[in-house]
Amino acid sequence: MDVSEYLKFYSELGVSHLKLPETNGKVRVFTPDQASLNDENPVPVTAPATGPGGLQAIRDEMGDCRRCKLAGGRRHIVFGSGSPKAELMFVGEAPGQDEDLQGLPFVGRAGQLLTKIIEAIELRRDDVYIANILKCRPPNNRPPEPDEIAACGGFVERQIEQIRPLVIVALGKFAAQTLLNMETPISRMRGRFFDYRGIPLIPTYHPSYLLRNPSAKREVWEDMKAVRARLKELGSSYYR
Ligand code: URA
Repeated sequence: MDVSEYLKFYSELGVSHLKLPETNGKVRVFTPDQASLNDENPVPVTAPATGPGGLQAIRDEMGDCRRCKLAGGRRHIVFGSGSPKAELMFVGEAPGQDEDLQGLPFVGRAGQLLTKIIEAIELRRDDVYIANILKCRPPNNRPPEPDEIAACGGFVERQIEQIRPLVIVALGKFAAQTLLNMETPISRMRGRFFDYRGIPLIPTYHPSYLLRNPSAKREVWEDMKAVRARLKELGSSYYR
């Protein structure tokens, strides 16, 4: 593993100190120079998808959606945000409280971490596209239910078809299992590329899981390096 890249990744995720054991039994503290990114940094907010006709047509069709029971408790439909020409797309589970209030995906704490993950592979949030399987917040962030997925899942599929990214990252078990129609645990799916209708899709841990289990950032960094390598292999304009 390239240690300096690994430390830079941690730094970009807001980790400012790493305790390193020393041979004489003392503990050394590593402080990256570049500790400017921390949890206080605001998330750059990108506009809701209003881009080329296709995405807007999907949003228009959704309208003031009442297709499932989540409609009653939501403040906003969270359609998606980012570049309609994105070569990298992230798919999460469902909006949480902050997303429901703002109408934008991944703007709470998990979203701030996702921004740092994106920046760790030298991209900006507005270069990529971010959406969720469900567009409305489940009460108390409970897991999505089958009737909700049945009512809403087609929209993310159409967003993917419209954008046709070079690579998709499925954030967490729910997005990965839903898009791939598999029941394999996320710990066994992560880090491998699967085929999603001709597009390479890699599952990784959800940023909310990383907030609870910071040691899993190591695996996410491996996954993001694989994403960057695959984008380069596919001639992505991001790295030209
Ligand atoms: N978790 C998700 O899966 N999506 C969001 O938009 C926010 C948190």
